[in-house]
Amino acid sequence: MTEFLPHAAPRPRCVLHVDMDAFYASVEQRDDPTLAGRPVLVGGRPPRGVVAAASYEARRFGVRSAMPMREALARCPDAVVVRPRMDHYQSVSRDVFAVFRRLTPDVEGLSLDEAFLELTALPELADDPRVTALGIKDAIRAATGLTASVGAGPNKLVAKIASDLEKPDGLVVLFGAAIETTLARLPVRAIGGIGPKTSARLEAAGIFTLGELAAAPAGAVEPIFGRYAARMQGRALGLDDRPVEPRREAVSLSAEETFATDLDDPKALARELRPLAEKVAARLRRKHYVAGMVAVKIRQADFRTVTRQRSLTPASAESVALFEAAWGLVQTWITEHPGAKLRLLGITAGRLTAASQLSLFEAGEQRLDRVSDAIRERFGAGALMHGSDLGPGLEEDG
Ligand SMILES: [Mg+2]
Repeated sequence: MTEFLPHAAPRPRCVLHVDMDAFYASVEQRDDPTLAGRPVLVGGRPPRGVVAAASYEARRFGVRSAMPMREALARCPDAVVVRPRMDHYQSVSRDVFAVFRRLTPDVEGLSLDEAFLELTALPELADDPRVTALGIKDAIRAATGLTASVGAGPNKLVAKIASDLEKPDGLVVLFGAAIETTLARLPVRAIGGIGPKTSARLEAAGIFTLGELAAAPAGAVEPIFGRYAARMQGRALGLDDRPVEPRREAVSLSAEETFATDLDDPKALARELRPLAEKVAARLRRKHYVAGMVAVKIRQADFRTVTRQRSLTPASAESVALFEAAWGLVQTWITEHPGAKLRLLGITAGRLTAASQLSLFEAGEQRLDRVSDAIRERFGAGALMHGSDLGPGLEEDG
């Protein structure tokens, strides 16, 4: 497969493109069983509404996203129009992306329902992309009840084209010589970046398919693509060296708790803080982040609120490390404000970076090891027998 890589690489790349099928419409059909099997249009009502998503039942009538709702209903009069619930789709999207991040932090989200995953550095996942893709589809179905289409290839371009070939619920693995033969018969618009205007100009020049684009003489494509002509002819052959670029979804993660009664007893405050640290740490680990900073929010009975922060070195996603850092900050504040009554404590993990790459199958075990190691390191070899619930903050206090 290396002949399709533009540059020599230490290992052939393996990129997945995962795309949820008719995402918003599928969420609505999942949540309301009376919509199952029926044409569903998510979007604003006529006369001014536009289709944000159409179920596959509606697409059979020629309805597409971005079509005016009035036109969509003219084509498919029996369709059920559902108002978009973006907050809800975002929450389902978080569950989908959590599946991706269990495999790798190298996730580039393109929208709520679409992402590239770079698996190149994970040979146990990259060596059999079909098995990995099936695992992802199963995990998404288990987490959300929804189907996704997955494409695997040596780069983003091929992976994205592959995910579209067998939609919905598709799985296409495209490497080696199959790339050129598969792409050759696709219309030029299969490549992102070739829109209706450019494809019209290509068609006027007698170029309809990617095969024809790849084989066209430079003189025919240069007037259309200018200095990008050679690159676009390479794309028509499936060549693409763009990296997968993870964008950090979260800048920070927090949890806070308003107490049933205002508290001034340090032991009671530590007891409230610990589960917040555990909650934030668990969310960090689930998203495969480590935090380089911990902040606490301290609200007094009269609602005066302050925050204090410190850095966390090394960056961590462990409950113990987060709790220790946060408790140190709270203790210092209490010492400076004797007798103050608190109504709320909050904890924020910031300066998030991707945790080291761990496969789905190793992550649990290694994480447990890391936590046990950390407990031994901080509290001595006997600490594990006493249980991890006894933090140093409580000891100093008690
Ligand atoms: Mg989609």
